[in-house]
Amino acid sequence: MGDSRLEFLLRPELRAAAGYQSPSAVGMIKLDAMENPYVWDETMKARWFERLQQVDVNRYPDPQALQLKRSLREVMAIGNEHALLLGNGSDEIIQLLCLALARPGAVVMAPEPSFVMYEQLAHMAGLRFVGVPLCEDFALDEAAMLVAIARENPALIFLASPNNPTANVFDRKVIEDIVRATPGLVVIDEAYLPYAEADALDFLRYDNVLIMRTLSKLGLAGLRLGLLIGARQWLCEFDKLRLPYNINALTQVSAQFALEYYSFFAQQVRRIKRDRELLLESLGELPGWQVFPSESNFILARLPGNQAKGVFEALKVMHILIKCLDGTHPLLHDCLRITVGTPEENARLMAALHQILDR
Ligand SMILES: *Cc1c(COP(=O)(O)O)cnc(C)c1O
Repeated sequence: MGDSRLEFLLRPELRAAAGYQSPSAVGMIKLDAMENPYVWDETMKARWFERLQQVDVNRYPDPQALQLKRSLREVMAIGNEHALLLGNGSDEIIQLLCLALARPGAVVMAPEPSFVMYEQLAHMAGLRFVGVPLCEDFALDEAAMLVAIARENPALIFLASPNNPTANVFDRKVIEDIVRATPGLVVIDEAYLPYAEADALDFLRYDNVLIMRTLSKLGLAGLRLGLLIGARQWLCEFDKLRLPYNINALTQVSAQFALEYYSFFAQQVRRIKRDRELLLESLGELPGWQVFPSESNFILARLPGNQAKGVFEALKVMHILIKCLDGTHPLLHDCLRITVGTPEENARLMAALHQILDR
């Protein structure tokens, strides 16, 4: 088939896109994707299987996932004054927001570096994306944000706090100034909330703010469940765009089940946060390495001149997969991103790093 037909028929932004790249990790220690490294114990698995057997997969799932929403409200202490919308991962919610706001000429804005899906999904929806560089220390550049807002009139601003890939939270006062200044909607993405010290739910007092969360980083990445929290007026509109059965029956039942064991996940999170501090310390002792503070389940590190790619590749040969960020944004030169694993995985990572750096 000639390329010309693709060229002629497909949307140009689709032809231009690289698509989401996810490296194969078969047989690797996987420290690249901010997953919770712990599997469920046998008792819990047995109870889960029991619950799954009650699902009638010949029937469509509950289109509103009411039971699951009730559990989410309870666990996250979300009051009935706020509405909820569920997505097949928060990725789907980002896509839905972009589609909903894709009026001709509309702009999506986010600080950068930040979560890559904001830009990818904005482009796919035909929106223009404007990235505003963070400061050198990865704080929001308030002045630059306010200038960009005045210039671009963004329909939608994404603020991930804690931010991926920089691991830090943004200053609440600066977030507030952005919320007050923008004519559009601000979505605060709290994907890493389990690993942070405070939430931003109180920002819902502003009627142009929505809060987005996910169960992925807590430990349920495979189930694909994200949620949007905010005013009914907004969410009712977005709900028209949502595919009716986007949360499948197995996910509804499994997430519901998992939330009954919330304390089990909370315990894993406490463990991962403690191990994060230990790993921060160990990485910080490597010669010339600069590690940045983290309120997430991953660590951003800057290596001495031009070592990042080599270290990344050498780790891969030793079956340890992390993320190399060098070359993805000027502020991330010489940077690696490392997800906190189990104590054993972290120890193997450190041993491998010592071996590589001692060569
Ligand atoms: C991982 C991540 C998400 C996506 O989460 P899913 O619910 O798994 O789609 C959203 N935002 C940020 C900042 C993330 O790092």
